[in-house]
Amino acid sequence: MENAMRIEPTWLATVESESGVKVSACYQCKKCTVGCPLTFAMDIYPDQVIRLVQMGQRERVLACNTVWVCSGCETCTTRCPNAVDVAGIMDYLKETAIRSGMEIPQPKTYVFHRAFLNEIRRRGRVFEAGLVGTYLRESGELKAKLEDKTLGEELALGWAMFKKGRMRLFPKGIKGKTEIREILK
Ligand code: SF4
Ligand code: SF4
Repeated sequence: MENAMRIEPTWLATVESESGVKVSACYQCKKCTVGCPLTFAMDIYPDQVIRLVQMGQRERVLACNTVWVCSGCETCTTRCPNAVDVAGIMDYLKETAIRSGMEIPQPKTYVFHRAFLNEIRRRGRVFEAGLVGTYLRESGELKAKLEDKTLGEELALGWAMFKKGRMRLFPKGIKGKTEIREILK
């Protein structure tokens, strides 16, 4: 509750200047939240995240699980009548929470997020088999699946995807990796 009341009046200006998103344009119509497919798993709704940023409630926003539940589908951004890039703000808040050393409320999602970005940095695109392997190892899921003997289900899924040409055995890079690394700095 203490965090909920703490106000940082300059934070809105910081968010707008660092993210390039005009959060102050939001007039709380809630069209973003109504379209979001993941509100059932969120502790505060997307329109509330935007409102709390406007109010300078930095710690409350950076500690919420909504930012980590967000899949980046961009439905909210598409629906906003004021061109507020809500999905872009969710990404910005993820990175800000990490940089600030906040405790991440969804540690496994954070492992996935980090593994995904590392794949992009390394190859310019995601190598799915590498991503799954890193996630299983670093999230603790590999150990859990070995213990409860469900790893075979993952391997069967991977094999089915491979047969349909949806998963490669070896990674493939793209041209322009250096530029992509620059964007992700
Ligand atoms: S980008 Fe995130 S907040 Fe926006 S609609 Fe998709 S899941 Fe919801
Ligand atoms: S749709 Fe846009 S204007 Fe409406 S509440 Fe969401 S961010 Fe604000």
